[in-house]
Amino acid sequence: MVYLKTDEEIELLRASNDLVGQTLGELAKVIKPGITTKKLDCIAEEFIRDHGAFPTFKGYPNPNGTPFPASICTSVNEQVVHGIPGDVVLKDGDIVSVDCGTMLNGFCGDSAYTFCVGEVSEEVRKLLRVTKESLYLGIENAVPGKRLGDIGYAVQTHCEKNSYGVVREFVGHGIGREMHEEPMVPNYGRRGTGVLLKNGMCIAIEPMITLRSRQLVMEDDGWTVRTKDHMCAAHFEHTIAIRKSSADILSTFRYVEDVLGDNAI
Ligand code: MG
Ligand code: MG
Repeated sequence: MVYLKTDEEIELLRASNDLVGQTLGELAKVIKPGITTKKLDCIAEEFIRDHGAFPTFKGYPNPNGTPFPASICTSVNEQVVHGIPGDVVLKDGDIVSVDCGTMLNGFCGDSAYTFCVGEVSEEVRKLLRVTKESLYLGIENAVPGKRLGDIGYAVQTHCEKNSYGVVREFVGHGIGREMHEEPMVPNYGRRGTGVLLKNGMCIAIEPMITLRSRQLVMEDDGWTVRTKDHMCAAHFEHTIAIRKSSADILSTFRYVEDVLGDNAI
C-alpha cells in the first residue's frame, strides 16, 4: 500500500527531515581525524533529543530481530551501509557515510551524507561526487507520470558510466509515519517500468555506490555491510515529496554545505 500524503503531512515530514539535515550539519563540524564514530553517535543523539525528536534507528530490528544499538549509522571506507558507531578512530584520508533518522511529531526524517575525513584521494572524492550527482539525477526523474524505474535508471546509468558498482541488495523506500513504507525504490531499473509516480508520494532515494565491484559481505554483527573487495563505497540520501510538477526535496544538505564551504563534495 502506497500512502499519498496531504500537504499538511508533507510539512510535518519536512520538519523532521530538516532536523536530520541540522544533525548532519552538527556532525560536519566535528568530523576530523582523531574523532571516534561513537562520539559522532553521542553528539547526534543528544542533538536530536534536544529538539524534541527521537532517533528512529535506535532499537530498529534487522530481519533477524537484532536491534540496531545506536542513533546513527556510521559506515567507514569499505563499509557501505549500517555501520555501527564504536571505538574506531577516524583518520586522515578516510570517508565516513553517516545515515541519520528522526521521528518528530509522528513523522520520519531520513537522510545520509558521505563525509571526507581530512585529505581524501581524488579517486575517492570522485566516487562521492558522482554518487551525489546520481542522487539528484534520480530526484529530477521523481515527477508525476514517470515511474520508479525512471529514477533507478537515472541513478544506475550515471554511476555505471563512471565504472562504479550499483548496490542491488539495499534500496530506497517510501517514508511517512513509518521509516520504511512501500514502495521500494531501487537504484537500478528500466525506463518506463515499475510503480507510477503520483502527487503526494513521499520516498527516500539513496544510491549506495561502490568504487569497483558491487559484491557485498555482511559482517558478523548482523548489521554492517561492506564491499567484498574492501574498496570504498559512498551513500547519499534525500527524502523527497513528489508534487504536481517537480520533486520537493524535504531533507537538506544545506547545513552540511554551510559548514564545509568550498570543501563540500
Ligand atoms: Mg537513511
Ligand atoms: Mg532510507
